[in-house]
Amino acid sequence: MARIPETCAPVNARSVFEAAVDEAVQTLCQTIGARITALLVAIVSYVVGRPHHVRRMHVPAGLCREGRCCRCGSRRSRRFSRNGFRPRQPLLTLWGEVPLELPRVRCQCGGSVQFDFGDVLRSYQQIGADVDAQIQRWGGMAASLRQMRQELAHTHIGPLALRTLNQRLHLLATIDPNRQADDVPSVLQLDAIWITLLRPNGQVCRDRKGRKRAVKGRFKVPVLIAMGVWPDSDRCEILAWYQGESESAEEWVKFLEGLEAQGIRGRNGLKLIIHDGGLGLSSALQTVWFDAQQQRCLFHKLRNIEGHPPARDPFDR
Ligand SMILES: [Zn+2]
Repeated sequence: MARIPETCAPVNARSVFEAAVDEAVQTLCQTIGARITALLVAIVSYVVGRPHHVRRMHVPAGLCREGRCCRCGSRRSRRFSRNGFRPRQPLLTLWGEVPLELPRVRCQCGGSVQFDFGDVLRSYQQIGADVDAQIQRWGGMAASLRQMRQELAHTHIGPLALRTLNQRLHLLATIDPNRQADDVPSVLQLDAIWITLLRPNGQVCRDRKGRKRAVKGRFKVPVLIAMGVWPDSDRCEILAWYQGESESAEEWVKFLEGLEAQGIRGRNGLKLIIHDGGLGLSSALQTVWFDAQQQRCLFHKLRNIEGHPPARDPFDR
C-alpha cells in the first residue's frame, strides 16, 4: 500500500505517484482475472448442464454439450462433474499479467473432460488478444520487430522476446478470423517436413583480411504444415505453415492454436484430422481442441513397416 507521508518532510512526489499507479494496475489485473475466471466457471456450468449444488441426476440423460471425455469419449453432460481448479500461466495483456485459474471437469469414468472456452480463453493462450491486436497494428505500420519491442517496454508487459514477437507476427499474418464457414475443409492433414538452414552457429572466425566473421552451420528445422482437403471436390490447399525449431508439443500447440483461431473446428465443418502420430503433435492435439476425429496417416504407417521388415516371412511355413 502506498503510504501518504505523515510528516511534512519533502517527499519524491513522482515515486509516490508511480507506486500508487503500480498498485492500482496490479489490483486491476487481479480484478480482470477474477472476472475471466467467473466467465470460465459459467461456461463449465453450461458444459455439465447444471448450476452449482444441483445433483447430476437432475440433468437430462440425453443432454450433450461441447465437452468430451478423453478416456471414454462420452459427450453426456450427466456423466460430467466439476473438479476444482488448476493454476495456469498468467495471461499477458496490455494491462499486465492477469492471474488465472482454470476450472476442470471430470467424467464418471475418471477421465478428464475436454472442452473449449471459445473466445474467452484459448487453450494454452499466453498472450491476450489485445496484445495481438497491438502487434498487428504495428505490423500494419511497418514497424520493425525491434521498434515493437521498444514500444512494448513502455506498456505494463515489458519487452517480449524478439523471437516471440516474430512468431506472433508470423502466425497473425496467416490468421483470417473472418474465414467463411464453407471455407473450412472437412479433412485437415498435419505434417512436418525438415529443411536445412544455414545460420550463424555462435562461433567467430577471421577471414583472409583478418575481419571477424560469424561461422555458419547447418541447422535442421521443421516446417509445420496444415493442409486442408475438401473430399467432395478436388480442392486441396495449404492453409498455413510455420517454421519451428522442433516438433515439440509446445511448437505444435502454437501452430494449431493459430489454425483453430481461424475457425477451423468441428462446429464449422471439420470432421477428420490426419497426422503421423508423432509424440509432440499427438500431445498438442490433446491441448488444442478441434472437436474432430483423428486418424493416423496410412502412408506413415506403411513407411514405418517398410523400415522394419518381419524377421521371418510370415508366408514361409
Ligand atoms: Zn469418461
